[in-house]
Amino acid sequence: MKFFEMKPVGKFLGLLCVLCASVVNCFSLDREAFSVTNYDLNVQVEPEQHRLGVRGKITLRNDSAAPQKIAVLQISSSLDWRAVKAGDKAVQFVTQTYTSDIDHTGGLSEAIVTLPQAVPPKGTIELEIAYEGVILLDATRLTRIDTPEEAANSTDWDQIGTNFTAVRGVGYVAWYPIATEVANLSEGNSLFEVLGRWKMREAGSKMHLQITPTGNSEVLPQILFNGVSCSGPAMYESMGVTKVGPVDCMYQPLRLDAPTFVIADYQVLERPAIEVRYLRGHDVAATNFADAAEKIAPFITDWFGEHRERAKTADLPDPKAAPFESGALLLTPLAGDDSKLAGLAAAHQLTHAAFLSFRPWIEEGLAHLAQALYLEREKGRQAALDYMGLHRSAFSQIEAPAPKSEDEVNRSLVNTTSEELYRSKAMCVWWMLRDMVGEAALKKAIAAYRPEQDKEPSYMPRLIEAQTQRDLEWFFDDWVYRDRGLPDFKVESAFSRKTETGSFMLTITLDNLGTAGAEVPVIVKFAGGEIMRRLEVRAKSKAVTRVEVTGAPQEIIVNDGSVPESDTTNNTFKIEYTEK
Ligand SMILES: [Zn+2]
Repeated sequence: MKFFEMKPVGKFLGLLCVLCASVVNCFSLDREAFSVTNYDLNVQVEPEQHRLGVRGKITLRNDSAAPQKIAVLQISSSLDWRAVKAGDKAVQFVTQTYTSDIDHTGGLSEAIVTLPQAVPPKGTIELEIAYEGVILLDATRLTRIDTPEEAANSTDWDQIGTNFTAVRGVGYVAWYPIATEVANLSEGNSLFEVLGRWKMREAGSKMHLQITPTGNSEVLPQILFNGVSCSGPAMYESMGVTKVGPVDCMYQPLRLDAPTFVIADYQVLERPAIEVRYLRGHDVAATNFADAAEKIAPFITDWFGEHRERAKTADLPDPKAAPFESGALLLTPLAGDDSKLAGLAAAHQLTHAAFLSFRPWIEEGLAHLAQALYLEREKGRQAALDYMGLHRSAFSQIEAPAPKSEDEVNRSLVNTTSEELYRSKAMCVWWMLRDMVGEAALKKAIAAYRPEQDKEPSYMPRLIEAQTQRDLEWFFDDWVYRDRGLPDFKVESAFSRKTETGSFMLTITLDNLGTAGAEVPVIVKFAGGEIMRRLEVRAKSKAVTRVEVTGAPQEIIVNDGSVPESDTTNNTFKIEYTEK
């Protein structure tokens, strides 16, 4: 169903806009002109009717360079606009459905609002708004690109329901007004780019919510909200019926989170490091999760500092539901009793509770690094490398072939909106940094990090460089500030000579055919053992190292899997040894 489309008409007109049931000319429609700097919303949730009703005020700021007379406000297509007012006067607005995958329904209800006067660049305007509708389980945006229904429902699990309500914000359900250009799941990274832009524009915005679950209630529902301080709810008597009063929440995200609320009849398990909320019958899994988190907490503290907030885990009823994280809040089905899996999840979550950065490559990269470190501690380095190998395959596809020059900056870790890069690749980058500068130095750099002082992409790299004598500028340039693709190592030559003392002196020349430099482990196998050296090889360069071993050298293997590489089929070298 397309209500709105753009078609090229003629050479001179360029893009002519075809609008259905709307009088607005699209030439003046800049959907991303405004951002919302303040939300003050009264949210009524009626679980039994799956209904959401919202009344409140929002403040719009014109982020564009031109004065704006029209503002576009978007909510989920399952919600309807009821009123828009400016300064107590109703303003003219038209509504239409706008197809976009930023919402689980695959569409948005747009209000195209004619403002009483044009808002100048950087100017603001306050609007009073009202909208309502239902939020039902809906995975249209996924099923229409052929995702199997069951998998789609376990991914887009948001809904308001009698027994369980969980609604995630932007990127899942537009339950508060947003203003975005179209996002299309079938077009590469489109959704993540649109989302990334919106979240950047929303950085620093405030949200004040009063959530009231209506209906008669015997139990006090648990209302969870990410990254916020809430007070309430309280039960009170009204005309002989027990009712639940509103929960008052203040939300000012430091991370680029999606405001999420959960209303459920949870049981609570409280521990010093974590609070686990679980559904009836899930006691075993909840205890298991809390135990795993408690066990790993000192390790995470040692790496990332004392927790800034207590981690919160909350249960999801669908055992196949995709976990969702928002800072230190993790929504995940609590079903299994696998303590290793729980430990892996807890390592990530506790890192978020301890460490905060609004830069995804730091925030998520370190939380994933914590998972690899946890596995290394539990099962040894190889287990960590195997785990990172799963992540490597996720981003290697993006990285091959090496990025074109215009992509180097957009896809860099400091700018990317791609999860594969700011999660998986960033984890590998942090792991390489740990190998290069050592654990103690990296921990000191992490401890010195202050999110409020992080004004430049080079802030964290400088903290790391301050802890080491090494020049790492080339590394950050290849891996962090730019996306130069991946290295490709090869042993170009190896010569072995027997020394007078009977040992063997091996001269190895490594060639990096790839477009990014790295310090790579080189393993020499010889009669009676093996030895490992680390060698820095810049992009499109060679480096030589000499290794003395006690037995005849047999084989050289470059890269133990800790350095992401574009081609690993050329990493083994058999040594031809000639006795002289
Ligand atoms: Zn995370």
